[in-house]
Amino acid sequence: TDPAQYVRSAIRSVPDWPKPGVTFRDITPVLQDPRSFRVLVDLFVYRYMQQKLDLVAGVDARGFILGSVLAYELNLGFVPVRKKGKLPFRTVAEEYSLEYGNSSVEMHADSVRPGQRVLLIDDLIATGGTMMAASKLLQRLGANVIEAAAIIDLPDLGGAQAIRDSGLPVYTVCQFT
Ligand code: 5GP
Repeated sequence: TDPAQYVRSAIRSVPDWPKPGVTFRDITPVLQDPRSFRVLVDLFVYRYMQQKLDLVAGVDARGFILGSVLAYELNLGFVPVRKKGKLPFRTVAEEYSLEYGNSSVEMHADSVRPGQRVLLIDDLIATGGTMMAASKLLQRLGANVIEAAAIIDLPDLGGAQAIRDSGLPVYTVCQFT
């Protein structure tokens, strides 16, 4: 089997969660099964092993799981992009709008040195708002964001396209429509 299809087949679709009409794409079965977890991580390792990167930035919270394993395998540092109010030291924040209301992502002000080449990673791209905000924040810190990577793209929501249109390359393992 194709490795991307192998990973995709392990993703669980949960209807009507977190609210009626929404189907949640649950990656916990991918992580739980040692083979699909390895195939997933190796897909990212092979993609980025020849790139000259300095850091992996993982988005709260599933981006931490993937991002930290990937950073370790690629001998890179890992930095967290957190939800507001979680980081203890001096922070910078970037607000973005959700379907209802606003949210923001935060990073430690010293988590990136200017010019560092950073891979941004999360589990899923829906509207792309989270990735865009994280990328802006990284750029404000002087990072050179190389690519936005995720396991899943929901192309009907246009997020990956919007990110690409902003000039940032996007890689996802699979799509759900
Ligand atoms: P966006 O900002 O692109 O609209 O939403 C992406 C963020 O919401 C990601 O951080 C992702 O973890 C979370 N998210 C939204 N919908 C889903 C889903 O169906 N499955 C998973 N695993 N995460 C989701």
